[in-house]
Amino acid sequence: MAETLTGACLCGGVEYEVTDPQALGYCHCTRCQRWTGESLAGVVVDKDNFRFTKGEELVKTYESEFAPRNFCGNCGSSIYDDLGDQYFVAAGLMRELDMKPSFHLQVAFKAPWHEIGDDVPQFAENPPA
Ligand SMILES: [Zn+2]
Ligand SMILES: [Zn+2]
Repeated sequence: MAETLTGACLCGGVEYEVTDPQALGYCHCTRCQRWTGESLAGVVVDKDNFRFTKGEELVKTYESEFAPRNFCGNCGSSIYDDLGDQYFVAAGLMRELDMKPSFHLQVAFKAPWHEIGDDVPQFAENPPA
């Protein structure tokens, strides 16, 4: 049976469900730094496996030049980065998540003061397809 996780934003106004999470990792690009404070810890999920269960009307989208970013319009919690067929869903909103991180993306752009403390694979930009 596919694993299902639930997530909720800081104010609790938005809740969602994710099925069959594929991988947990970090994106260190400058956009994610601005969006989150440093890196976005996210879970890769097929877009068909993500659904809002509460408060979808609160969700706002910032149409960035790279990927639309979706967040709670009330509390500002980052919810997911829309990569097209997949979403990169902010991991900190899913309290039952117990995957181990398996990648760091966009390491060439990370904040110079941020030291990566684990030994999972690092990619200067994105991993090879
Ligand atoms: Zn909220
Ligand atoms: Zn990023």
